[in-house]
Amino acid sequence: MPHAQLESFEFVSDVDGPHLLVLGAIHGDEHCGPQAITQIIKEFESGQRTIKKGKVTFIPVCNPRAYAQGVRFIDHNLNRNIKRREDTRGIYEYELMNALCPYLESADIMLDIHSYQVGGKPFAFVNSLEGQEVEISRAIGAEYIVTGNVEAYRNTRSVEDKMSVGTQEYVLTFGGEGIIFECGQHEDPKSLINAKQAIEKILAFLGLCEGVHDSGRNVPVITLKKTFMKKGEGHLSKDWSNFDRLKQGDVIAQFDDGSELICPEDGVFVLPKANVTVGYEFGYLGQAVGE
Ligand SMILES: [Zn+2]
Repeated sequence: MPHAQLESFEFVSDVDGPHLLVLGAIHGDEHCGPQAITQIIKEFESGQRTIKKGKVTFIPVCNPRAYAQGVRFIDHNLNRNIKRREDTRGIYEYELMNALCPYLESADIMLDIHSYQVGGKPFAFVNSLEGQEVEISRAIGAEYIVTGNVEAYRNTRSVEDKMSVGTQEYVLTFGGEGIIFECGQHEDPKSLINAKQAIEKILAFLGLCEGVHDSGRNVPVITLKKTFMKKGEGHLSKDWSNFDRLKQGDVIAQFDDGSELICPEDGVFVLPKANVTVGYEFGYLGQAVGE
């Protein structure tokens, strides 16, 4: 397989400042990132927007083949088990990771733009409650801030730790900070508006461009406690919405073998997904920090 290439756009100031990396379409079925990033690139190219300090790198489409086909991925979820590999074993996303890793390694701050299956408000995943990821998430319009991705995977014995390394965790291991911004439902036009505003606001918050941001708002912080795995054929017990309240003992899902997935503790349902393949997650149990 020839080496996969990624199209990137870079805008650099003579004045020192942070290096921001903005990613779209890590998942090929998510359109708001590429569209919003393309609009912002046009603003830079037309001179309507200028960079005051630092550097911003945009990769509008991180999974070009999946994006062209409108599917989440080709061979492997690009946001799982990210690392450089000498032997990519013919797996397209492993080729992409080799192209993507140098960008992730050199960024001070990464904004990775996604959309999701169930409708709802924009929210952010952060690595840590320390540092500036939480404040950036507030600044760019998140209505919820979710942390504890890695821990949620580690609490699931059936999934290896290494699977939890997505863009965000990879950036962290190279000393950067990373925010995954979930803009809304895949097909909702509001997701594009949220994505574009998030880019405008992070550029303003970091001082890379003129503009306003929403820093200082009070936003609930949710920690992920457990992954709800689809261990066999089955379905969610109802049409769950994102951040629905959960009670200990609630039936999350029913499997075809007659067994049930029971909620172990009170909390909220983060990112419920009805249409998932066996071996992947139905979603996560989250709990509000400080509750
Ligand atoms: Zn995604």
